[in-house]
Amino acid sequence: MLRQLRPKTDLRTLITLLAVASIVITLANSLYASWRVQRDVLIGNTLESNRVYATKLAATSEVFFQLAQSQLSYSAKMLEGGLDNETLLQKEVDRLREQTSSFNSVVIVDANGWVKAISPESLMLKGMKLTSSAAKQALTQRKPMISDPTISAANNLLVFISWPVWSKTGGYLGYVGGSIYLKKKSILNALLGEQFYRDGSSLYVVDAGNQVLYHQDRNLIGKTIPPIIDDEQRKKESNGSLQLEGDGGQSILAGYAIVPASGWMIVAMKPKEATLAPLNSLLLQVLKHSVPFALLTLILALILAQRIALPLWQLARKASQMDTSEASREISGIRSWYYEASQIKRAMLAGIGLMQDKIGRLKSEVQTDPLTGLLNRRGLNAVLEYFLATQQPFAVLALDIDYFKRVNDTFGHDVGDDVIENVARQLEFGARQTDVICRNGGEEFLMILPATDSETALAIAERVRRRIEIQVLDRVGSITISIGVAFWTPEMKTMEHTFKQADEALYQAKNAGRNRVMTLQKAAVQPEAVHSATF
Ligand code: GH3
Ligand code: MG
Ligand code: MG
Repeated sequence: MLRQLRPKTDLRTLITLLAVASIVITLANSLYASWRVQRDVLIGNTLESNRVYATKLAATSEVFFQLAQSQLSYSAKMLEGGLDNETLLQKEVDRLREQTSSFNSVVIVDANGWVKAISPESLMLKGMKLTSSAAKQALTQRKPMISDPTISAANNLLVFISWPVWSKTGGYLGYVGGSIYLKKKSILNALLGEQFYRDGSSLYVVDAGNQVLYHQDRNLIGKTIPPIIDDEQRKKESNGSLQLEGDGGQSILAGYAIVPASGWMIVAMKPKEATLAPLNSLLLQVLKHSVPFALLTLILALILAQRIALPLWQLARKASQMDTSEASREISGIRSWYYEASQIKRAMLAGIGLMQDKIGRLKSEVQTDPLTGLLNRRGLNAVLEYFLATQQPFAVLALDIDYFKRVNDTFGHDVGDDVIENVARQLEFGARQTDVICRNGGEEFLMILPATDSETALAIAERVRRRIEIQVLDRVGSITISIGVAFWTPEMKTMEHTFKQADEALYQAKNAGRNRVMTLQKAAVQPEAVHSATF
C-alpha cells in the first residue's frame, strides 16, 4: 500500500542524475587516466635521465683514468734514465701532484719496493717500503694498474693508479703511482659534484667487487654493499636503469653505468616519492582546467533535460484530466518536438476523440427513441432544462394517434410500429427547424414550439393534423390524430402545469370526436369537416 503512495521520480530528475553521474565519472576517469599517464612518464623520464647521467659520469671518469695513466706513463718515460737523482725524482712527484691535481699523493718506488720520492713529503714515507696490497701488486705485476680500494701505509683509504718504469735497455726500474683518497677531498668529489643532491637525487660509485668508493654517506665508503645487478648482467650491459627497493622499503629509481678502465659502476638514484611530488600540482592544474568545461556541460545537460522532459511531463499531467472538455485543446497545445513525445500526444488525442465519441454516443442512445429516432422523454427534459435556464417561452402540442389499438389488432404490432414511424416523419415535415419533437411513449408525441404565439401554434398543429389525415398508408389506409395545445411562459415557473393542460386539451379533443386540435380554454381550430376514423 505504502509503495503505491510513494511518488515516482520524474523524467527530468532521472535525466539530470544521469547527466551529473556521467560528467562526474568522465571527470574522475580523465583525472585518473591523466594521473596514470603522467606518473608513468615521470618514472620513465627519471629512470632515463639517471641512466644518461650515470653514463655521462662514467665517460668522464673514463677520460680521467686515461688522462691520469697517460700522465704517469709520461713520467715513467722521463725516468727511464734511472732513479738515482733524488732531487729530480722529488721534482717530478711534486709536479705530477700539483700540476695535474689528479692525485692526492704521488710516489716513485724502486724495483725493490723502497720509496724513492713522495709528494707531499709530509707523508714521511721516503726511504720506507710500502705495505699496501696495491703497492705490492704493482711491484709484482709490473704493468699499468688501477687498484681496488686499499688502506695505505699512512692509513688512508685510497685507490692507487700506477705505471711501471722501464730503463732504455728494458730493465725494470720500479713504478710511479698516484693515489686518490676516497674519504677526503679528491678529484672524485670534483668529478661527481654535489649539485646533484638538491632535488632528492644522489649517486654512489662501487668498484668491481661492490666496495663503495664514493657515497653521499661517507660512513659507507670502503664497505661492500649488495649489488643492484648480477655479475652476468654487469658484464653484458655498459649502462641501464631499474627500480630498487631502498633500506626503508621506499622505491628508488636508479640509472647505472660502468667505467671500462676501472670496472667501477656509477649509480644515479632518485626516490620515487620525490619524483612523483610534482604530480599533485599537475593534477590540480588538470582539474582547474577541466572543471569549468564540466560545469558548462552540466548546465547544458540540465537545460536539455528540462527540454526533453517538459513535453512528457505536460502530457503526463494531462493524462489524469482527459475527460474534461479542455483536455483536447490543452494537449494539442503541448509542443512535442521529438518522436516519442509526439507519438504519445497523438495517441492521447486519439484516445480523447474515442472517449468523447463514445460518451456522445451513449448520451444520444440514452436520449433517443430507437424506433423513430426522435428524442425520448429524457431527451426532451434536457431541452426543457435549457429552456428553463434561458427563460425561453414555448407552446406544447400533445399528439395521440386515434384508435391505434385497432391498427395493432387488425394488422399486427409490426404494422403498428410502421404507422408510429410514419407519423414521426410527418411531424418532422410539419415542424420548423427550431421545433423539438419527442415520442412521449406508445403512440403519443409532444412537439415544443419555442417562442410561438397561440395563433401560430394552432396553425402548425392544424397543418400537422392535416398532413396525416390526407395521406393514405399501405394496407392501413388513412389515420388521424388528435392534438391538445398549451403554452408556457417564464412567469409560470414550473412546466408541469402546462403539460397537464396540453394533456387535458388532448383528452377534450378525443372526447370531442378525435381528429382535431384543441386548447383547454376553448375548442380552437375546428377542421372544416371533422373526419371520423376511417375504421
Ligand atoms: P384513442 O387513443 O383514440 O382513444 O384509442 P386508442 O386505440 O389509440 O387507445 P390507446 O391510446 O389507449 O391505445 C394505445 C395502444 O397503442 C395501446 C398499445 O397496444 C399500443 N401501443 C403502445 N405502444 C406501441 C408500440 O410501440 N407499437 C405498437 N405497435 N403499438 C403500441
Ligand atoms: Mg394513447
Ligand atoms: Mg390513441
